[in-house]
Amino acid sequence: MEKTHYCQSCGMPMEDSLYGTEKDGTKSPDYCSYCYQNGTFTGEMTMEQMIDFCATPMAEHQPGMTEEKAKEMMRQFFPSLKRWRQQ
Ligand SMILES: [Zn+2]
Repeated sequence: MEKTHYCQSCGMPMEDSLYGTEKDGTKSPDYCSYCYQNGTFTGEMTMEQMIDFCATPMAEHQPGMTEEKAKEMMRQFFPSLKRWRQQ
């Protein structure tokens, strides 16, 4: 079984069609197309802003998940992601 890859910016589980692109048009190995296109991040934001941004859709997609709980989980998970690790 293949290990699930997560976008190293927003933590979303990745599928083949979701990968972002590098400047030369190749697939980014790390980031999804929402976060990363043509070799740059689509928006400059802090980890906390990303957490706020993701909390609403995450809570909506998972039954029993509240926005507060989603944020809690992301605050644990995000510091291990490549984009936020050096902060
Ligand atoms: Zn992403």
